[in-house]
Amino acid sequence: MPELPEVETVRGGLDRLVVGATVRDVEVFREYSVRRHDGGPDSFRDQLAGRRLAAAVRRGKFLWLPLTEPGPQPGPNPPVEPKVPVEPTASVEPAAPVEPSALAETRPAAALLAHLGMSGQLLVRGATANEVPARSAPEPTGSALDASTQAAPAPAVDPAIAVDAVTDDQAAPTPTPYGAASPEDDWKHPHLRVRLHLDDAPSGAQYLDFVDQRTFGHLSVQDLVPDGTSATVPAGYGSDLPVLPEPVAHIARDLLDPNLDLDALVSRVRRRRTQVKRALLDQTVVSGVGNIYADEALWRAQVHWARATDKLRAVDVRRVLDSAAEVMREALVQGGTSFDELYVNVNGQSGYFDRSLAVYGRENEECRRCGTLVRRDAFMNRSSFSCPVCQPRPRGL
Ligand SMILES: [Zn+2]
Repeated sequence: MPELPEVETVRGGLDRLVVGATVRDVEVFREYSVRRHDGGPDSFRDQLAGRRLAAAVRRGKFLWLPLTEPGPQPGPNPPVEPKVPVEPTASVEPAAPVEPSALAETRPAAALLAHLGMSGQLLVRGATANEVPARSAPEPTGSALDASTQAAPAPAVDPAIAVDAVTDDQAAPTPTPYGAASPEDDWKHPHLRVRLHLDDAPSGAQYLDFVDQRTFGHLSVQDLVPDGTSATVPAGYGSDLPVLPEPVAHIARDLLDPNLDLDALVSRVRRRRTQVKRALLDQTVVSGVGNIYADEALWRAQVHWARATDKLRAVDVRRVLDSAAEVMREALVQGGTSFDELYVNVNGQSGYFDRSLAVYGRENEECRRCGTLVRRDAFMNRSSFSCPVCQPRPRGL
């Protein structure tokens, strides 16, 4: 399943390759993949065709592309300045006042919303991709995204390679330059569900393909609504807009979001009367932490998964959250260095999972810190992995 670092890698790729493009046409090959869209495939197509993809934004594992009208724009979407917390700017005069009419025209009212589910991929075809510089890069992960822009141009695609790669779930990822197909090539991935035909992509991209083998993922066009917490702070990572798709409004900010208020989050976690791992997985508390990263973060912070949140000290909660952010940033650097790598990895797993896990999936193997054998416990129909020595169980469990 794509975890937050993989989704951020996809966001960065979309930002580089398709933002600025206009949707010329839409093909829906699998109606189920647009089931969250009100009105079905025809409405989905009508609401996208002719619109411009204005930005690539993420909160947790939700991705969205705000839609604007095509035509002359006041330049590309303003570059994101992810350095936060945002300083109060009330006393600062705007350098270049924007005419209200121009603002109204460019302020998007809707967005293409994507969730990758278990196996979803957003694949760009026809881009002369890698020379296009990143318009924005997350501060903590800049090196990873920079690295992808320096990759050598990929050779022409060989569809046969890609087909082989996707017919075998267990196959090791084979780098396939899906993104470097010739513009005329309309080859379709075997699990292609939705295709957007693009015009005027800065990268030259011809298609944005939604490929999803297991079809848990979905696309829809959604109204953008104000973020209840602030009318001025960006609602997601990747754009300055303080609005977000309606289905994302109840999702908390994620740990890679520069606008996250960590002190407030620590307080929120400690007010819960639950186990610390349940709080980590609760998308209304903090988004984007999956089972794997929760276990890795708790091991790193040396906190047992069943500890009661209202009995943890603030410094311990903060250490858990810092550890989770750290683990995900490392995953982004190690496994998310290239947008292209994600194209062929049907399991949505990055190389990080093979090399760097400390406890997850390592039952009865030695703890990388103390050598004690890692323990597995049942947890919410899944598992929790922990070290009995580094992460002592709370009394009574
Ligand atoms: Zn240990």
